[in-house]
Amino acid sequence: MRTRTLDLLLAAQGRYALGAFNVANLEQIHGLFRGAAEARAPVVVQFTRLMRDYAHPLMLEHLLRAAEEIYPEVTFAVHHDHGDEASCADAIASGHYTSVMMDASHLPFEENIAATRRVVSLAHPHGIAVEAELGQLKGVEDETPAAARNRKQGHSSRRGDALLTDPAHAEEFVARTGCDSLAVAIGTSHGAYKFSGNQRLHLDVLAEIKRRLPGVPLVLHGGSAVSQAELERIRKAGGTLDASARGVSATELKQAIALGVAKVNIATDGRLLWTRVHREFFRDHPAEFDFMRPGRNYMDEFGAFVAGKCKLLGAMGKSFSRGLRVKQTGRKSPLATSARAFAPSASKLERRGRNGSRKGHQGSSFRVSRSPRLLS
Ligand SMILES: [Zn+2]
Repeated sequence: MRTRTLDLLLAAQGRYALGAFNVANLEQIHGLFRGAAEARAPVVVQFTRLMRDYAHPLMLEHLLRAAEEIYPEVTFAVHHDHGDEASCADAIASGHYTSVMMDASHLPFEENIAATRRVVSLAHPHGIAVEAELGQLKGVEDETPAAARNRKQGHSSRRGDALLTDPAHAEEFVARTGCDSLAVAIGTSHGAYKFSGNQRLHLDVLAEIKRRLPGVPLVLHGGSAVSQAELERIRKAGGTLDASARGVSATELKQAIALGVAKVNIATDGRLLWTRVHREFFRDHPAEFDFMRPGRNYMDEFGAFVAGKCKLLGAMGKSFSRGLRVKQTGRKSPLATSARAFAPSASKLERRGRNGSRKGHQGSSFRVSRSPRLLS
């Protein structure tokens, strides 16, 4: 059942965290829903701008509509991760998303507030929640090949220059933007290389943000574990990820949840798993060329990974299928806080589908006629 993101966040806050998984193909979507079903855990399905560009927004939306029918027992929200104003507007207009993230964290404070406010004013009339970000995470959500090359060659300085969220600014930012949840920069980064040396999460900063914003669900980006065992298997199957790749430990995640993190974003772990499964399969079966055999393995392994992560986050058994119990936080929200299924508008999707298929396809690369600016 598709459910409002804010309802899920408010139910989780202070008790457990939602796993928010970035997925972009049918194997990942099957795996995600199988894992959520197995753990009876609510999950957030996330699409970034690059993922929408890769698959086409309509393809992702319709894959999810199919998943909704195939796995009716799964409680899930649909989130546009790291949007800009154009892509957030497009996601809101689609009638398909239950929340969007307006990421203007690279802009000066006042401009970030103004841009986030504009998206809030677009989203809230539709019952769609807005996540915003203050401070800057290291790394990039969807690294381009050129950026990856630069990082590998040491040309990028972004690994060591995170701008942590200032708690006082966070309080002002939420009050002035009306955003529903806040992504905090407390030391994590995107990608496989999250930490260097002994650097870990800045839990003191997180505690102070929570003290100032007791009713606001906080979001931890870059929550992948980057398992050393997975890295070793990737290396043994021919990969060259180096030993400095590190992620967030289970202990740190639990500490962060206790301090108010209600949603943990996970992208890198799913990609590392994909890499390991496919590298090992083709190493062990050099004459094979059928994508469906490793694809089945990946669905199974990603499902088990998702179930395990939901358990770690404390979300196991918290599916809303038996009715929602929202923890009363006293926070006044512009959105309803009772359990409500969120039904996308079929007519809107069909109309957009016709536009997308007729005008949108140009050779091997998709062009989305309704919002060309979202292409990266
Ligand atoms: Zn992120």
